[in-house]
Amino acid sequence: MKCVLCKNGETKPGKVTTTLQRDETVIVVKEVPADVCENCGEYYISHDITGQLLSKAEEAVKKGVEIEVFEFVA
Ligand SMILES: [Zn+2]
Repeated sequence: MKCVLCKNGETKPGKVTTTLQRDETVIVVKEVPADVCENCGEYYISHDITGQLLSKAEEAVKKGVEIEVFEFVA
């Protein structure tokens, strides 16, 4: 698809590292499948995968950790 940020680049499937924040908890997730803009590097994560990330984030918040880093596993 066309990148909505720079409006020039096309996105290509790739892997990104993304960060989520919930209250005091920061969650860093590596190897997340996403569409990455070849021009500006902006990335787009599907609703499906975002849902999985949020449930993981929820677990980390419940554990009360300040920072959690994990690799995305589909
Ligand atoms: Zn772009």
